[in-house]
Amino acid sequence: MEILKSSTDVYVLKLSIGEEVSSSLISVAEKYGIYGAEVQAIGALKDFEIGYYQLNKKQYKRSKYAEIAELISCAGNISEKDGKPFIHLHATFGLQNFQVIGGHLFSGIVAVSMEAIIRPLPEKLLRKFDEVTGLFLWDLRETS
Ligand code: ZN
Repeated sequence: MEILKSSTDVYVLKLSIGEEVSSSLISVAEKYGIYGAEVQAIGALKDFEIGYYQLNKKQYKRSKYAEIAELISCAGNISEKDGKPFIHLHATFGLQNFQVIGGHLFSGIVAVSMEAIIRPLPEKLLRKFDEVTGLFLWDLRETS
């Protein structure tokens, strides 16, 4: 992974074949102390796992894909959960037959390349458990 920290406090990342998306972003967040940021990325992944949150069951329906797919769009954020950087990503993928699939992105391996931009916020974004959804959601009242 190559990292360019631009003069505007934005991080530009170039991931290479074989690197895992979520763990790479976590390592950058840990290294630079990023606990609140916007993330966007494009590229091509393989061996990725996406999810659809089933609110009635309070759990994700998960699906894994081995093939190489275009990472058409990946958007998300970095926040803080239990004192550590937490990555939340959603992604749309373009398959070889030009169909598009997508969902909550759990993990994925860079198959060709990935270009990501992290734009830190001045504030930390804290996550706390939410009883209604069963998810760790932003707690903006606790954010400073
Ligand atoms: Zn999600």
